[in-house]
Amino acid sequence: MKSPLEAPEKQIAEETSVKPAGRTDSSGGEAEKPAAASVIDTSKMSKGKREALELAEASRDPLDDRGSFASNLFIGRYDFERIYPYLAQTDEDRAKGEPFLNELRNYLREHVDADEIDRTGEIPQKNIDDLFAMGAFGVKIPTQYGGLGLSQVNYGRAAMLLGSWDANLTALVSAHQSIGVPQPLLLFGTEDQKQRYLPRVARKEISAFALTEWNAGSDPANMSLRADPTEDGSAFIMNGEKLWCTNLIKAGVLVVMAKTPPKIVNGKERKQITAFIVDVDWPGVEITYRCRFMGLRALYNGIVKFTNVRVPRENMIAKEGQGLKVALTTLNTGRLTIPAACVGLSKRLLEICRKWSAERVQWGVPIGKHYAIAGKVAEMAGNVFAMEAMTFLTSAMVDRKAGDLRIETAMCKMWATETTWRIADEAMQVRGGRGYETAESLAGRGEEAIPVERFLRDCRINMIFEGSSEIMRLFIAREALDPHLKVGGAIFNTTLPKSDRLKAVFSSGKFYAGWYPRQWLPNGAGKIDNLPAPLRKHVNYAAATSKKLARGLFHAMARFGPKLDREQLLLSRFVGIATELFAISATCSYAQWLIAQGKSREEVLSLAEYFCRSARMRIDHHFAGTSRNADKRGYDLTQDLLAGKHAVLRDGIV
Ligand SMILES: Cc1cc2nc3c(=O)[nH]c(=O)nc-3n(C[C@H](O)[C@H](O)[C@H](O)COP(=O)(O)OP(=O)(O)OC[C@H]3O[C@@H](n4cnc5c(N)ncnc54)[C@H](O)[C@@H]3O)c2cc1C
Repeated sequence: MKSPLEAPEKQIAEETSVKPAGRTDSSGGEAEKPAAASVIDTSKMSKGKREALELAEASRDPLDDRGSFASNLFIGRYDFERIYPYLAQTDEDRAKGEPFLNELRNYLREHVDADEIDRTGEIPQKNIDDLFAMGAFGVKIPTQYGGLGLSQVNYGRAAMLLGSWDANLTALVSAHQSIGVPQPLLLFGTEDQKQRYLPRVARKEISAFALTEWNAGSDPANMSLRADPTEDGSAFIMNGEKLWCTNLIKAGVLVVMAKTPPKIVNGKERKQITAFIVDVDWPGVEITYRCRFMGLRALYNGIVKFTNVRVPRENMIAKEGQGLKVALTTLNTGRLTIPAACVGLSKRLLEICRKWSAERVQWGVPIGKHYAIAGKVAEMAGNVFAMEAMTFLTSAMVDRKAGDLRIETAMCKMWATETTWRIADEAMQVRGGRGYETAESLAGRGEEAIPVERFLRDCRINMIFEGSSEIMRLFIAREALDPHLKVGGAIFNTTLPKSDRLKAVFSSGKFYAGWYPRQWLPNGAGKIDNLPAPLRKHVNYAAATSKKLARGLFHAMARFGPKLDREQLLLSRFVGIATELFAISATCSYAQWLIAQGKSREEVLSLAEYFCRSARMRIDHHFAGTSRNADKRGYDLTQDLLAGKHAVLRDGIV
């Protein structure tokens, strides 16, 4: 039963889909999106920040009317029934994916030498050809275009297998499908584009995604590669360069993001970024450099130069100016591949540590009997369990088209990549000197070739590409603040007429008079009778803590007003709390499902309970930091350092 203290449905709908208080477009030309128009005051920002933000806002689709499980945590609404009972893969879907997944598992084990790939920096062409023949490059592409037509969950399970074995192959397969040609075309392509390109990329040609440039990494607004329309409008002429394009060296076709001529929107010039499909063998396309990295030594990543490349208009994806929207929407789902691969890698690392902790005897007992090592292994186990719960819950929700999941996928990406890095780091510690030694060297002196150092090197990049951890936090925080920005953002927006701002004062006063007191009322998680008692308390804790989170966020808004967006460290604590709440909730739901499937109740509960307890300690730590921290001092210190002060810190080094 829902608590009677919950707001009525109508009010909830208002809170999750409040209409922005602010200007409505009355001018001619293209109307500016409400979210960008009135909720954020960009007038006092630097030109670079304003342009970056305006472009991001213009490319952002408003959140689904009723938000999602994770987005609603920020407004104190705990919709556990959206994720409970656990949305598991159906038997039918599992059976559909099984033949391919079995084939992939056996193939990796028998025919892919991951250490050799790492050592030589090359993936044997035979491996690539065999994976194409198996359908591994077209897992989600519908069968009518030559793909396997499998679900997101099955694709995630393939990524998990790959991630547990070889990160180079994972990157090849994943960059091709999750951000390369297949995903954007499935989402935005015309039927003609699908017919021309999907069969090629499903069965014979690798694809890549080219967005990054020297001056455009996290900030695509800085892009300089141009695509100018020809006089007759039938094509675009592309000039410029792209950096760090994964798969480029092997690719037949690219998705390229380019600047197209600016548009006038509400009397102001707005930058336009447009997405194009470009064949690598077209005149003027030149691969000029292969980049090499700390890990992913066999990544086919490089620099590509475009000189007067003629791109026919029919190769534009979506409309002119919608390139960033294509990229963001593609990544909203595409982002799930990395966490799925992280689940695979983390399971492998846990298995390595489990065996070694039982086998290696020091100071008279196996090292797993020492508390210091046991603590690390327990932390890994709890985290692996939660990572799988979150990632595959979200994947199943994608398959069931269960609403707007951008927050869930971003949380999975951020949490899984950071947690996997910690797991790899701890695995190296558990393995001691052997963790630091290469697999080849271990084998050379007669020990088992366990590649922990390779896994560590390979997984570091996951926190940087496809949205760095910092950008994920900004992205999640932006969505978290959305309901509040819509209600109250206009108050602080000096670009709006006074009457609009005054109107916003009244409407937000009315809104918060209802919403705020409710954030102090106790509530439970609703219908959780079937949940084992030890988990019930964690779910109820998550429900109550989402209200505490909502209050904290509201107090921060009251304190910092429009300057809150600068308080990135404070916001990141709120994002951290919500992410842990999502992880706790997904874990409890998953645990109940596993028990219902006949898995050992005792084993499942000990994993889930351990995870929830450690997540709650992290939440306590985040909350403590919202009221007591050294953020401002730290910021000032860095500004001094950037200005050249504290020379003592540069003394005595080479
Ligand atoms: C191995 C590898 C593969 C890649 N593959 C591809 C690919 O296939 N296609 C492609 O287009 N790109 C690719 N990239 C590029 C990758 O996506 C970028 O490296 C990433 O977007 C970050 O950009 P940057 O490296 O320029 O860092 P920057 O944007 O310069 O950022 C540097 C640091 O500042 C932080 N930062 C930046 N802006 C903010 C902000 N507003 N607030 C707080 N912190 C901020 C970042 O998080 C980061 O920690 C790849 C990169 C590598 C190394």
